Amino acid sequence: MSRVYNFSAGPSMLPEAVLSRAAAEMLDYGGSGQSVMEMSHRSAVFQSVVDRTEALLRELMGIPEDYAVLFLQGGASTQFAMVPLNLAAGSGRADYVLTGQWAKKAASEGKKLLGEENVHIAGSSADKTFSYIPAEESLSFSPGADYVHICLNNTIYGTLYPYIPDTGDTPLVADISSMILSQPLPVSRFGLLYAGAQKNMGPAGLTVVIGKKALLEASRPGTPTMLQYKTHLDAGSMYNTPPCYAIYICMLVLEWLKSDIGGLGEMEKLNREKAELLYSFLDQSRLFKGTVEKGSRSLMNIPFVTGDKELDGKFVKEAEKAGFVNLKGHRTVGGMRASIYNAMPVEGVRALIEFMKGFEVQNG
Ligand SMILES: *Cc1c(COP(=O)(O)O)cnc(C)c1O
Repeated sequence: MSRVYNFSAGPSMLPEAVLSRAAAEMLDYGGSGQSVMEMSHRSAVFQSVVDRTEALLRELMGIPEDYAVLFLQGGASTQFAMVPLNLAAGSGRADYVLTGQWAKKAASEGKKLLGEENVHIAGSSADKTFSYIPAEESLSFSPGADYVHICLNNTIYGTLYPYIPDTGDTPLVADISSMILSQPLPVSRFGLLYAGAQKNMGPAGLTVVIGKKALLEASRPGTPTMLQYKTHLDAGSMYNTPPCYAIYICMLVLEWLKSDIGGLGEMEKLNREKAELLYSFLDQSRLFKGTVEKGSRSLMNIPFVTGDKELDGKFVKEAEKAGFVNLKGHRTVGGMRASIYNAMPVEGVRALIEFMKGFEVQNG
């Protein structure tokens, strides 16, 4: 068996140790005589999976007691609607910072649900095709907004906030889909965090919401039951059938992070090492160059170009033949993008750089 190095932005690589354990436990989980895929979500054995997953997530991320953890479905995209439906229950106004496609999608869902006039754009980096994060001083928050929404790591453009905006008493909401578990995060600075699991914590189908309990109680009139945070808070994420198998794989990923890696501080060191290897290669390359301003570079998603579309295409094709897959940039930006999430080993990044060096010699 030969496995490829998968640089996909999501769904993405999972640690091999996790896949092996899932395979070994497929027919009989913990002596239950069944797969986690087959068991009742109301059974004691499955409840122990959910409890363990939540406990591990709380421990690894240092989630405070007054925050809830919800295991939902619908992807990060459903959160674009749930956030305004639940959190804009006060003034009905919200601020959004536009730093890429996902941030824009979140804002347009906000406009749809709250009305165009009630959504204030507090900052944007659209002027330079989202190649940077706006300086904190340039953000203009509106007084009395119910929340401020940001996208902390911009998967498509490859930017990461180098700071956490200070929004005073206004709750800060962040889409952390493509950076959750990649480094420690001061959870208490946020009112609510959400992430689709398929980038850095497990398979598609699971969405994790971490929110201050007090913020999850209210919702706007007419909000469907399934879209109310309170429904899931009160039912311990068991109002209806949760994404059982995805939660179980997430538990295995969290066990791996804790036991094999040693926590998020150690994970960050490895992620910095990988990103620095690739960025320093790009900074001195005659053929390839990164597209993001230095102070805003993501540790997870690294876009780069040759400056020649045909050559970009040739690179992606040849890389794939050599076992480096999914390096094509997002359809809206072109070029290449290497997503190097937690599960990408340092050797994968080193091997990619060697391959890029060879391509440069032949095509530079
Ligand atoms: C992938 C991604 C999304 C969309 O996630 P779905 O789970 O497919 O809805 C939203 N935001 C960010 C930052 C992403 O990376």
